[in-house]
Amino acid sequence: MNDSPLITLAQKLIQQPSVNPKHHICHEIITNYLQKLGFNIELMHFNDTLNLWAFHSCKRNQKRTLLFIGHTDVVDPGDLQCWNYPPFSGLINDNTLNGRGTVDMKGALAAMLVAANNFITQNSNYQGRLAFLITSDEEGTGINGTTKVVDTLIMRNEHIDYCIVGEPSSQQQLGDVIKNGRRGSLTAKLTIHGTQGHVAYPQFSKNPIHLVIPALSNLLKTTWDKEISRLFPPTAVQISNIYTNNNNNSNNVIPQNVILNCNFRFNDKCPINKIKKYTNEIFRHHTLNYHVDWKLSAEPYFSKPGKLTNVVINAVKYYQKFTPRLETTGGTSDGRFIAKMGAEVIELGARNHTIHKINEYIDLIDLKLLHSIYQKIIEDILLTHD
Ligand SMILES: [Zn+2]
Repeated sequence: MNDSPLITLAQKLIQQPSVNPKHHICHEIITNYLQKLGFNIELMHFNDTLNLWAFHSCKRNQKRTLLFIGHTDVVDPGDLQCWNYPPFSGLINDNTLNGRGTVDMKGALAAMLVAANNFITQNSNYQGRLAFLITSDEEGTGINGTTKVVDTLIMRNEHIDYCIVGEPSSQQQLGDVIKNGRRGSLTAKLTIHGTQGHVAYPQFSKNPIHLVIPALSNLLKTTWDKEISRLFPPTAVQISNIYTNNNNNSNNVIPQNVILNCNFRFNDKCPINKIKKYTNEIFRHHTLNYHVDWKLSAEPYFSKPGKLTNVVINAVKYYQKFTPRLETTGGTSDGRFIAKMGAEVIELGARNHTIHKINEYIDLIDLKLLHSIYQKIIEDILLTHD
């Protein structure tokens, strides 16, 4: 055991094997913690997903709201034999805290909760509200997570001014990268039809794998953006899977169909209908007999830098003596749902070099720094006048 409330809380959360979609007692731990601080707490169940919405305020001025968002679910640890320590032990060794979720993102959850605790106990009077939105489904489909809570809050005319997302944004050093937007995500499942037959008699068949190769080459060479985006990285496509109906892997069968999963990460200079149009043009140009199913999982979001961005940059500078870079790289984030509410959103979390990997860990010094930076952000937002 150690005597740091921050490390103890982080360990307690890591010791819950809350692999998506399970939540174990993470929400209970967080509810108890916030209850003791006098937060108003509401648990929102949507089907099997448990979400927590909580806020604390001084009576004087409730107008300004600073919200922290995060998630308690983690990805599967994978092969347990490969881990140096059991993934749900929360073991400390050589100044690191080890386990699944240390970086993504139970370390950040503990850091924001302890920062809130310190702030509230040190300041009996402040301006506005301090709020938490914590879901148990971010790593899975997320359909009953943050998005549903936000819909509920919008229906109630709740207002959020500033939001910190605790996702691991940092790269080489804690706080070197903060994020204020992400590209959108669109998936195409393409089925290309051929004619099944014997590989020794190709004249009687149409091999859909052979037919699709030139089209794929074109797809990968396409420039999708009509001009360079000033806000986001370029639109890009990755083929994430290719498979056929040749399920028993026979080496003498030309398959009937080949199926491709393609994921597009798209920016503000590339509308969805353009991606669909170009893709169809390529496949038609190669006279393929095909079918495509589209699935949009996220629109791009961009949060215009304002007061919160300045506060976050200054807080990082205060502790780290460097200025963070503002980026919109990486996968989608629940920040997009909060941006919908008109809030200024900044993502700031741990270093991301071990996320979702075997032997995920966080340096204890990073965990402590993250907590100090979060606390300074709360102070700079809620102790100042507009
Ligand atoms: Zn995460």
